[in-house]
Amino acid sequence: MRATYDALMAYTKRTVALSQVAGLLGWDQETMMPPGAAGQRGEWRGAMEEIIHARQSAPEVGAWLARLEGADLGDEASANLRHIRRTFQRATRVPADLAAELARVTSVSQGIWARARAADDFAAFAPTLKQVLDLKREEAAALSDGDGTDAYDALLQDYEPGMSGARLQALLGELRAGLVDLRDRIRGSTRQIPALSRSFDHAGQMALAHDLAGVFGYDWSRGRLDLAVHPFSSGSGFDTRITTRVDEKNPFNCFYSTIHETGHACYEQGISAAYLMTPLGRGVSMGVHESQSRIYENQLGRSAPFCGWLFQRMQTEFGDFGVPDADAFYALVNQVGQGYIRTEADEVQYNLHVLLRFDLERALISGALEVSDLEDAWNARFLADFGFAVDRPSNGVLQDVHWSVGLFGYFPTYSLGNVYAGGLYQALCAAVPTLEADLARGETAAATEWLRDNVQKYGGLFEPADLIERATGAPISARPLLDYLERKFTAIYRL
Ligand code: ZN
Repeated sequence: MRATYDALMAYTKRTVALSQVAGLLGWDQETMMPPGAAGQRGEWRGAMEEIIHARQSAPEVGAWLARLEGADLGDEASANLRHIRRTFQRATRVPADLAAELARVTSVSQGIWARARAADDFAAFAPTLKQVLDLKREEAAALSDGDGTDAYDALLQDYEPGMSGARLQALLGELRAGLVDLRDRIRGSTRQIPALSRSFDHAGQMALAHDLAGVFGYDWSRGRLDLAVHPFSSGSGFDTRITTRVDEKNPFNCFYSTIHETGHACYEQGISAAYLMTPLGRGVSMGVHESQSRIYENQLGRSAPFCGWLFQRMQTEFGDFGVPDADAFYALVNQVGQGYIRTEADEVQYNLHVLLRFDLERALISGALEVSDLEDAWNARFLADFGFAVDRPSNGVLQDVHWSVGLFGYFPTYSLGNVYAGGLYQALCAAVPTLEADLARGETAAATEWLRDNVQKYGGLFEPADLIERATGAPISARPLLDYLERKFTAIYRL
């Protein structure tokens, strides 16, 4: 048994290495690649995908897995086998012609979506979205392989293994009413929040971004910081890279994108080195990944004590910028605005954006909602939850790229990450009584060490929900997140 397992793991290690190389090509494409190389790069990535898929679905992998069925080789081996089996099933259950058709349609549909968004014309995108949706429904049916799994749940497994739409609905449904109520009370507040009075130069922002990544424990010997249009992190183990962007009018965009991506990267860097190049050597799910980026960005990075430190640091770097004191700075960093765009939303309203998409995409996949009715459904729901009307499709149903590239089941992991972060923060506060004093000095080591020891180091060893329940010592619930937001924003807005 052990010899069979070792053979499977040696084979898998090569596949993991190829996947990491493919990831590096993606990083390069977004940061360094000359613009003229796009077509050639498409060929490179397509060739890599073909090789990786062939290895993941190879008959010898199926034979090894069959021989190891029921074998007891310990917890780490069981977890590795769980990941390899899942990847093998995914790679073999979707017929090659369906996978090829999905790849073809989604590569074209992203461009059609971008043009429709620029023209503010949902009708120009609707037929393509219908095509993508039909293919995703077919894919979901193939993935469940006749075992009765709900179509949405089948798609969800790509992003959050073990989670179901019904469980998400129960978890996230609890958030909606609480958040709408809190937001409405905030709108009634008379608190005046100052605006930034000047611009912030590129070099100064990048110097501070570099500092912030270091403050949050990013290991520069295993990473680097570059610019990208949409910030992201990529890689794992000893090569974990982050990106950020600079807007001279709004330095918080750069600083909090950097802290967010640092959270993702520290997760990858924090995984036990023993899991390097195995299926356990990467973040276990999108939700858990987002819990790390969000707790770094929000619960730690946007906390009152850390904002006090950042206020001083920004004054040293840029001089006076029109904000009188640390308390006003804290309110500005956490300001609850009135906007249409998910990616620009504050902590209170962010999850309302996600919940809207989760409910609509679930209805699209189940067939309860047709693409032809999607724009009206979006606008009605937005008005109900945000209290004002969508003015144009680029601010509404056309704002996110996800559906155009077939990412159905991805959105709820953003909110799930926030829910996980809420529970983790509660446990962290109990475990690290010096947290506030530490953050006021720009010191995060005790907090990041707790996250590494309770979440990050395990990599893919546990199922996502089990990992969070072990770390927090409690069943997953939206309550800690709601309590945290209530406490924080009633104080800021003096409600
Ligand atoms: Zn993220």
